[in-house]
Amino acid sequence: MFEFDLFVIGGGSGGVRAARMAAEAGAKVALAEEYRLGGTCVIRGCVPKKLMVYASNFSHAFASSKGFGWVCGEARFEWKSFKEAKDREIARLEGIYGQLLQSSGVAVFKSRAVLDGAHAVHLSNGTRIGTRHILVATGGAPQIPSLPGSEYAISSNEVFKLEELPRSVLIVGGGYIACEFACILNGMGCRVVQFYRGPKILRGFDEEVREHLGEAIIRRGVDIQVETDVKEIQPRKSGYSVIAKDGRSFEFDRVMFATGRRPATDGLGLEEAGVRIGTRGEIEVDQYSQSTVPSIFAVGDVTNRVNLTPVAIREGAAFVETVFKGNPTPVDHKNIATAVFTQPELGTVGLTEEEGRKRGGVQIYATKFKPLSFAISGNEERSLMKLVVDSASRRVLGVHIVGESAAEMIQLAAVAVKMGATKEDFDRTVAVHPTAAEELVTFRDPVRAT
Ligand code: FAD
Ligand code: NDP
Repeated sequence: MFEFDLFVIGGGSGGVRAARMAAEAGAKVALAEEYRLGGTCVIRGCVPKKLMVYASNFSHAFASSKGFGWVCGEARFEWKSFKEAKDREIARLEGIYGQLLQSSGVAVFKSRAVLDGAHAVHLSNGTRIGTRHILVATGGAPQIPSLPGSEYAISSNEVFKLEELPRSVLIVGGGYIACEFACILNGMGCRVVQFYRGPKILRGFDEEVREHLGEAIIRRGVDIQVETDVKEIQPRKSGYSVIAKDGRSFEFDRVMFATGRRPATDGLGLEEAGVRIGTRGEIEVDQYSQSTVPSIFAVGDVTNRVNLTPVAIREGAAFVETVFKGNPTPVDHKNIATAVFTQPELGTVGLTEEEGRKRGGVQIYATKFKPLSFAISGNEERSLMKLVVDSASRRVLGVHIVGESAAEMIQLAAVAVKMGATKEDFDRTVAVHPTAAEELVTFRDPVRAT
């Protein structure tokens, strides 16, 4: 007999959802968390990051307010008081996660756990626990390339804990985290340089969106240096010298790498248990999140499918439906909306123009416009909205938005895309005026077609 029906390793987005749902379905469930309940999203990801976005955005609002008649005194950002308030909120949320698990009847072990074969885990104190099923939901960790002096750099894990706001910072990378933190720290008053090794930030997103957003970020003050990478970091009395691969030298208070994340599978005893690990360190799973060992499942970032919180949560819920409710439920990873919380924001769902062209038979509707909120602000930034439409069926295959509230807008546009809405469905929808979102339902002629 097993002590538990389910042992979940990792108390983040995916693990907590699965543990609670399985316990509520009547299973005897345990969960081990080695750091803090809530995982990356709550403790050192989405939530504290978004609080930083809000804090940082005020500087742009103050700047725009003058055009609207406001006369403001000196505005100064105090990192210390922001950090204290942020840390209190995160601790509050962490407590709620603990309470939710407790009220669902999940046994929580504040410990690292590793597998001991297909039906047991080992806690750090040596305790061995037998379990019918194991769910690995250990997430991922920042990956910093090894180069001379890279040990002096911080990652997103440390940026939330800084005791002081640096006056100058180098951010390395051109993905979600690099672009978001370049904008956050710039808005908070740091001098920000961003090195990206490729020609344009945010590889994989729509080309026009990348171009437009890159220009907007630069206009707001981030010094984006493309085709540039770090060769070496040398510590100085105060701060660091960074030597770029092209030989140029720079001085910064801090260097932050945002060069991707790696699934947290090292030392978990997975391969010893027979679980197949992929080339990027991810647990290989089928559409039901089942690994190559029938009793071992995995959800979230550790599977490196789509590394977003709502996806981890969906995968956790689908796992419980499949294993504990007799309702085999694959996770649908198509048309997942996502936002990059840069300033301005980017919201996107579905096919990019380039993917549409490859597929063939698409029409592109696109517009760049100055939103009313900037009209008399002196801000020359333009918003971008774009639809990728299938010429034959008229279905909207992709929506891309750069501008204020893009993240909020894309959530709702995603419902339409998921339902298979056509361009004509968008057209039949009467606009809400005056908004930026009305542009999405008032496109007339395509700007390009393939
Ligand atoms: P995690 O949330 O990482 O949880 C894994 C947990 O397992 C951790 O708490 C870890 O301590 C624990 N653990 C690991 N190994 C063990 C072990 N052996 N024993 C016990 N415990 C263990 N996604 C979005 O959708 N929107 C965003 O805005 C967003 N912003 C982000 C910002 C940053 C800076 C980062 C880093 C990520 C962001 N993400 C965002 C991604 C999101 O945080 C992840 O996709 C999500 O947290 C994945 O959930 P998970 O359950 O797979 O893993
Ligand atoms: P990303 O994969 O988004 O970006 C990594 C960046 O680092 C890329 O620009 C990549 O370049 C670059 N890079 C990789 N290796 C090196 C190297 N050796 N030297 C120099 N540059 C390198 O990862 P992030 O760390 O930004 O974020 C991880 C994931 O977390 C995201 O993919 C996303 O799923 C999730 N996330 C989601 C957020 C949201 O929803 N808003 C916010 C933050 C994170 P190249 O493009 O050339 O490969």
